Amino acid sequence: MPELPEVEVVRRGLDEHIVGRTFDRIDIAHSRAVRDNTVDLTAILPGLRVTGTGRRGKYLWLTLSDGACLLVHLRMSGQMLVGAPGSVDSPHARIRARMGDVELVFVDQRTFGSWQYCQLVDGIPERARHIAMDPFEEDFDVGATAALMRRKRSAVKTVLLNQSVVSGIGSIYADEAMWAARVAPWQPANTLSQETAVDLLEASRAVMERALAQGGTSFDSLYVNVNVNGASGYFARSLNAYGRAGEPCARCGDAIAKTVVNQRSSYYCPTCQNPT
Ligand SMILES: [Zn+2]
Repeated sequence: MPELPEVEVVRRGLDEHIVGRTFDRIDIAHSRAVRDNTVDLTAILPGLRVTGTGRRGKYLWLTLSDGACLLVHLRMSGQMLVGAPGSVDSPHARIRARMGDVELVFVDQRTFGSWQYCQLVDGIPERARHIAMDPFEEDFDVGATAALMRRKRSAVKTVLLNQSVVSGIGSIYADEAMWAARVAPWQPANTLSQETAVDLLEASRAVMERALAQGGTSFDSLYVNVNVNGASGYFARSLNAYGRAGEPCARCGDAIAKTVVNQRSSYYCPTCQNPT
């Protein structure tokens, strides 16, 4: 499942290859790939130019020349592929958009993803306005977000995944941030000091930046593949907690353990992440 860094890689790829292009024609192979079927994408998109790209958390969108946007829900397996028309040959191609001499293809094996035409309010799609800013946004206020976290009684892990507190931090990055800040996943967020809550948010951002730095090379020569899935190989090998149950902690050498917090698997070091 793509997390924030992977979605940001997709956004950058689209920014480079799609912005400035105009939709000529849309072919929809699978009706589930369009969210909100009151809007006919095959009628509304042709003639509209892509003026930019945006992202908040895992929400990704293309801004359009009519002032609205095309919101792209990647969900579990959505990919945005750009290539010469006809070059993307996949049984899972759900939407094909011809844009001059290239084709933008939405490929989605599991069909949970979709495209959705929607309005922008203050630069954010109306369907994404319910979620909080992510740590990569310029206006993200780490102090205020830390203070908001500290008003929650639920477990730190649950609060880091709560999109109304901070968006874009998935399970992998939450576990890594808690390892870095030495916080146990089940610790109630309202027992954190302001300093530790800030450390957690800054560690989340740092680990996602590292993933982004290592995931920015997902282009190949056949077509521009502006999608990567999950914590891909090279990045997975640099994780300190996530997925490493039984392996030694890089800080103290004790075995990383796995527990479940609010139905989510959490990996942590029982020695380093031991609340007092
Ligand atoms: Zn340790």
